[in-house]
Amino acid sequence: MATAAELTDWDLRHFWHSFTQMSEYESMIIERAEGCWLVDVHGRRYLDGVSSLWCNLLGHRHPRIEAAVAEQLGRLPHATTLGMGNVPAVELSRRLAELAPGDLNRVFYASDGACAVEAALKIAFQYWLQCPQPRSGKTKYLAYDSAYHGDTLGSTAVGGIERFHALYRPLLFDVLRLPPPDARTGDAAFHLAKLEAILQQHHAEIAALVIEPLLQGAAGMVMQPPGYLRGVRELTKKYDVLLIADEIVTGFCRTGRMFACEHEGVTPDMLCLGKSITSGTLPLAATIATDEVYAAFLGDYTTGCTFHHGHTYAGNPMAAAAACATLDVIGDERVLEETVPRLTERLARALAPLQEHPHVGDIRQLGTIVGVELCADRATGALYPPQERHGYHVCKRATGQGVWLRPLGDVIVVMPPLSISDAELELLVSVLTQSIDAVCK
Ligand SMILES: *Cc1c(COP(=O)(O)O)cnc(C)c1O
Repeated sequence: MATAAELTDWDLRHFWHSFTQMSEYESMIIERAEGCWLVDVHGRRYLDGVSSLWCNLLGHRHPRIEAAVAEQLGRLPHATTLGMGNVPAVELSRRLAELAPGDLNRVFYASDGACAVEAALKIAFQYWLQCPQPRSGKTKYLAYDSAYHGDTLGSTAVGGIERFHALYRPLLFDVLRLPPPDARTGDAAFHLAKLEAILQQHHAEIAALVIEPLLQGAAGMVMQPPGYLRGVRELTKKYDVLLIADEIVTGFCRTGRMFACEHEGVTPDMLCLGKSITSGTLPLAATIATDEVYAAFLGDYTTGCTFHHGHTYAGNPMAAAAACATLDVIGDERVLEETVPRLTERLARALAPLQEHPHVGDIRQLGTIVGVELCADRATGALYPPQERHGYHVCKRATGQGVWLRPLGDVIVVMPPLSISDAELELLVSVLTQSIDAVCK
C-alpha cells in the first residue's frame, strides 16, 4: 500500500474535491471507519459529527448492511435497470411504495440526490403534456430562495443559494421564486398568502412546485412554520400544480417520522429520496411518483409517452441491498420508535447550555437534525460578516481536536449518526463549545 506521504502528495496533486477551495485545502485522507469514527491515513481519529455529509444514518460499518452488500456482491454486483429488474431493487421498490405516504407507488432510481430531483422535474414537465387533460403551457417551476436541490443544471436552476447558484444563472431555465418559508419571518398563513398570490397569477404556466419539506437544509437548517406544508399541498391541488417534495435530507427517520411529509399528513405528487437511503454506504437515490403521475406515461410506444431518461448504475443491486438492509435495521432495532426520539432529546439536552453562549444566536432542531447559528452579538442578534468565515474556522478547529464538522456559512451542523453514544455526544458538544469559544472571542 502507498505510504501516507505518497497519498497526501497525490491527493494534493490530482484530486479536485467537491465544494472545496483547493488553494487552501489541507489534505485529509480517510482510510477506514467504525461506528461514529473516521480514521485517517496517519491513524488520527475523528468523530463524524455530520454523518459524512448527512447520509450515514446508522453508523459506519453496520454489520447487517455490510453483510447484505457482501452477499449481493457474490451474486450480482450490477445489472442494468433498462428493461429489466434485479432482486434487491424489486424488493426495495415494493418496500418504499409501502412506506411512502398515500399512492406514491412508482419508484424511479438514480445514484445521487440531484438526479432524483432532475428526474422529478422532467417527469412533471412531461406529465402535463400526457395527462388526461394536457396543458402544454405548464413549462415552469416554482421554487424557493435559499433552497438547495443538488448541483446538476436542472437542480441548480431550482436552487436558490446565491453563493452556489448565482454564477450559473445564464445557463439555467427561468424559475418563479418565493421567499424562504422561514418560521422566523412569518407564520404559515403569512407564507401561504405569498404562495397563493403567485399561484393565482401564474398557475397556468407552472408544472410543479419544488420544496424541501419542514426545513431547508443547506440554507442552514431553516425551519418552516407548522401548518405550512399542509397549506402548500392544499394550494398546489387547488391550482393544479404538482408538488415535488425533496426529502433527500429529511427522509429515513431523521426528523422523527420515516418521511417529513408525514408530520403534516401530506402526500406529494413526487417524493425525492437519497442520502440516508443506504445509510451512507453506497450511492442510491429514488424519485417516487403517484399512480396518477405514472399513468400519464403509459401508452403505445410510438406515441412517445415513454420516460426517456435514466442512468447506467441506477437501481444498482448492491446499493438496493444496502437500502433493504437499512430498512431491516430501522424496523428490527426500533429506530423510529426508540433511537430517534431518544437522540432527539439527548441532542436538545446536550446543546441546551450553548443557548446561553454569547456567540450563539439560534439553535434550530428538527428531530436529529440541528443547526447552531453563530452570531457576533447575542444581544442585538447581529451576524458576523460572511467573509470572516467564523463557521469555517470553528469547524476547522474542531477537526483539529478530533471532531469532524462542516458548516453552512455561520451555521454549524450537528447531525451525527443515530448510533452516537452518550460519551461521544458529550465529546462532540464539548469540542464544539471550545471551538466556538476560541474562534469567536
Ligand atoms: C444533498 C441534497 C441534494 C443532492 O443530493 P446529492 O446526492 O448530493 O446529489 C438534494 N436535495 C437536498 C435537500 C439535499 O440536501
